[in-house]
Amino acid sequence: MRSIQMVDLQSQYIKIKSEIDEAIFGVLESTRFIKGPQVERFAANLAEYTGASFVVPCANGTDALQIAMMALNLKPGDEVITATFTYAATAEVIALLGLTPVLVDVDPNTFCICPLAMEAAITSKTKAIVPVHLFGQCADMERIMDIAKRHNLFVIEDLAQAIGSEYTFSDGTKKQAGTIGHIGTTSFFPSKNLGCYGDGGALLTNNETIANTIKMIANHGQRVQYYHEVIGVNSRLDTIQAAVLEVKLKYLDTYCSARQYVANYYDQAFKDHPYFKIPVRDPKSTHVFHQYTLQVCGLDRDSVRKHLAENEIPSMIYYPLPLHFQEAFGASNYHEGQFPVSETLCKCVLSLPISTEMDDEQLQYIVEALNNMVAIYKNQLSA
Ligand SMILES: *Cc1c(COP(=O)(O)O)cnc(C)c1O
Repeated sequence: MRSIQMVDLQSQYIKIKSEIDEAIFGVLESTRFIKGPQVERFAANLAEYTGASFVVPCANGTDALQIAMMALNLKPGDEVITATFTYAATAEVIALLGLTPVLVDVDPNTFCICPLAMEAAITSKTKAIVPVHLFGQCADMERIMDIAKRHNLFVIEDLAQAIGSEYTFSDGTKKQAGTIGHIGTTSFFPSKNLGCYGDGGALLTNNETIANTIKMIANHGQRVQYYHEVIGVNSRLDTIQAAVLEVKLKYLDTYCSARQYVANYYDQAFKDHPYFKIPVRDPKSTHVFHQYTLQVCGLDRDSVRKHLAENEIPSMIYYPLPLHFQEAFGASNYHEGQFPVSETLCKCVLSLPISTEMDDEQLQYIVEALNNMVAIYKNQLSA
C-alpha cells in the first residue's frame, strides 16, 4: 500500500507530470516570469469554468480577501461580519485594514455562517459580510444575499476551500461558489482543491467597475503605469503558477469527483456509527470536500488521533480554536459559551485524509483502523 498522506500532492503530480513539466519549461524558455500570457489565459479559463464575468488573479487567498475589502472602499471603523469557525485569514485582513471583525456562530450542520446569527449581529456600522464556504460546501447564500440586500451590505464569499462547488437557489437557478456575492476570493495554495506549486489566489466578480478597481488595487493603485490613483498593493499570480493552474483546471472536475468518491466511501463506513458523525450534506449545495470532517462524540478525540498515528494514518483538527478564543482577536473580550456551536465543533471535529489519488486499499485500511480502535474501546468499557 502507498503511504497515506493528508494531501497526496506527489501522486497527483506524477499523473500529469509531462504536461506540467512542459508548461513550466515553457515559462522558463520564455523568461516571462511575470505577466506572461498564461496568467490572462488562466483567468479567462477560470471565468468560463465558474461563470464569473471577471477573474483577477493575485498572489494568494489572503491578499484576495484584503484587495476585495479595499476595492469595496471599506473604511476603518466599518464592521465586517464573519464566522468564528474558520481559518484566521478571513478575519485577519478585516482587522489589518482597521475594520472591525464581528464574529458570529456557525450552523451545526454545514459548519458555515449561521444566517440568523449573522442578521442579529448587524448594526448601523455593518458594511460587509464574509461567508466562508467551509470544507467545500456553500454557505446558505440565498438567505445571506437576501439579508445583505435588505441591509444594503456587501457580500464577499471566501471560496478558498470550495472552488467548483455549486449552489442551487429555491427557483432552481444554479450558481458556482464565488459568483453569488459582490466578490468571491479564492486561494491556489498547493493543498487547496485547485492548487498551484507555490502561492496563488484570485478574485471573482460579475461587476465590471469592481473588477477594474480590483485590478488597479492589486497593481499598486495604478490604471496607467506610474500614475497612482489610490494606495494599492503588489499582488500578482506569477506566470509559472498560472501555467500549472492552466493545466490543473482541466482536471478540476475529475479532482472533485475523486474527492467525492473518498467522501462517499467514508460516509458509507461511518453512517449510523455510534461515535462518529459524518458531515451533513446540504441539499442546496454540492460538496467538493476540501476536507472530510467527522465529529467524534463519546470518544476521546486525542486517543483516536493517537491510534491513527500509530497506524501511520495522519489526521488533522480544522480548527482547534475558534477565532473568538484567539489572542490576536481579543479573546479576553469574549466568554465561554458565547458561540456554542463553534466551541463544540473545535472540541470534536476530526479531518481524515482526503486527496485526489486515494485508492480503495488505503480507504479500507483507514476505516479498519478506526473500527479496530472502537472495538478496543468497547472491550475496555465492558471489561
Ligand atoms: C487557505 C485559506 C485562505 C488563505 O489562502 P492563502 O492563499 O493561504 O493566503 C483564506 N480563507 C480560507 C477559508 C482558506 O482555507
